Amino acid sequence: MATRKTQSVRISELEDRIEELEDHQGQTSYGHDQAHDETGDAVHVCSLPILPKREFDAGVSPDREHAILSTGDKWVNGTNIHYFLYSDGLFSGAADERDVVRQAFQVWKDVGIGLTFTEVSDIQDAELRIGFLRNNGSWSYIGTVALRIGQTERTMNFGWDITQTGPNGLDTAIHEIGHALGLKHEHQNPNAGIVWNRQAVYDHFARTQNPPWDEEKTDNNILNTLDSSTVDGSDWDPNSIMHYSFGAGLIVQPAQFRDGLNPAPGLSGKDNDVVQRFYPPLSGTTVLPQLKPFQSERLALMIGEQKNLVVIPEHSRDYTFSTFGRSDTVMVLFEDIDGDPVYVQGDDDSGFDRNARFTVRLIKGRKYKLRIRLYYNWSEGDTVVMMW
Ligand SMILES: [Zn+2]
Repeated sequence: MATRKTQSVRISELEDRIEELEDHQGQTSYGHDQAHDETGDAVHVCSLPILPKREFDAGVSPDREHAILSTGDKWVNGTNIHYFLYSDGLFSGAADERDVVRQAFQVWKDVGIGLTFTEVSDIQDAELRIGFLRNNGSWSYIGTVALRIGQTERTMNFGWDITQTGPNGLDTAIHEIGHALGLKHEHQNPNAGIVWNRQAVYDHFARTQNPPWDEEKTDNNILNTLDSSTVDGSDWDPNSIMHYSFGAGLIVQPAQFRDGLNPAPGLSGKDNDVVQRFYPPLSGTTVLPQLKPFQSERLALMIGEQKNLVVIPEHSRDYTFSTFGRSDTVMVLFEDIDGDPVYVQGDDDSGFDRNARFTVRLIKGRKYKLRIRLYYNWSEGDTVVMMW
């Protein structure tokens, strides 16, 4: 059993982690005045920021750690994600570039998922902040990592003109938004079993990318295989929007891709399946169970699954919400305003020996939805949630 940490130790650890992330972000070189983009029709590829690996307490088992890492960066289904597109200053994009990003959000929405996307004009209201700084690469933080980035910092960037046709255009925007939804690179799926000509890959990306990639960047985005527990256990999908295209001479095995691999444009069938697995559509007509004061509700969830409950307070007062039982969960309360989910309060207990819990003032007559996603559950007994 790990030593129980005090709240202040935990907060200070979280602060350290956020500082680390911000330091790292600060190292990004802004190549705004650099040479023109001379790669012509070369295929640009996304280059993800390299983040420090999350550290867990010694008492957290590898199983539990893997479960948290594999689902812990997904949004709670039903979240309304607000995005901001820079339209002036260093990070600004032209009107037609911003339109491509809006189209890309619509492509994901059209799959039929439980997330909604709303563009906002005030950066302070945005979970995703999207810039268009040329020669700075195209990248995005993965899923809810964006919540830990400074509120005036970008969480996504497009480093080349995405209004062009082909894979450097709309598909680039769909790919980066895929990262923002918590999806990772498909060519790094351990089930892919790709054998690389490593030196050829290093040479290729040092030569073709602007700015040129060093070996660490190539490892991070291509050669490193993702931990088998951080992908969703899916078979390799070479047509995924999350897969790069590769020219001849980079892949040794499977032999059929020695002359190159070019994923089909747009979302693949498996992309649709994966995103719907984490964010199934939420029907407005489904009657959700109601959570009432002092009545516990069993979660009975599999890892990665989510429970949705309605809360209709009978009084205007402070209410406390808490999970009970040994599990890792994220619990988020939304107010339902004309069908739009508005974030009220949330807590994530993953990796800690405590339960998700918060106290918040609710108003009589309003309607709220409590959404709980299970990351890990290692006891025989079940987890319950209660309000009082
Ligand atoms: Zn990518």
